[in-house]
Amino acid sequence: MIIVKETSTWVDNTPNHIYFLDDSMSKMFAYSIEGTSEPFYFKKPIGISTKHRTFEVLKKVEDVDENVIEVKGSKGDIYYVKKEGDKVTCSCQSFKYRGRCKHIEGV
Ligand SMILES: [Zn+2]
Repeated sequence: MIIVKETSTWVDNTPNHIYFLDDSMSKMFAYSIEGTSEPFYFKKPIGISTKHRTFEVLKKVEDVDENVIEVKGSKGDIYYVKKEGDKVTCSCQSFKYRGRCKHIEGV
């Protein structure tokens, strides 16, 4: 899930909101009006058209998975180490390109 803030400019000054979308940005789970704390969750995700609209990604939320461990990198970045049976994967660039990294060693 990703949390985005709409940055579209509307001719009629329609206020923009914060949206909670799936990774493909085609479904909306919730929205929140800027300045309010509680997002409004839909009972079922609703479709959203992002055509001709601009968004700024505020936060990407990884699916909560008990096999996923958060590892803090040396620069303070958070990586996600995932265990699936004997297979261990990491979300960092080093793992992506070399298939190994220091994060998976400590798990
Ligand atoms: Zn890593």
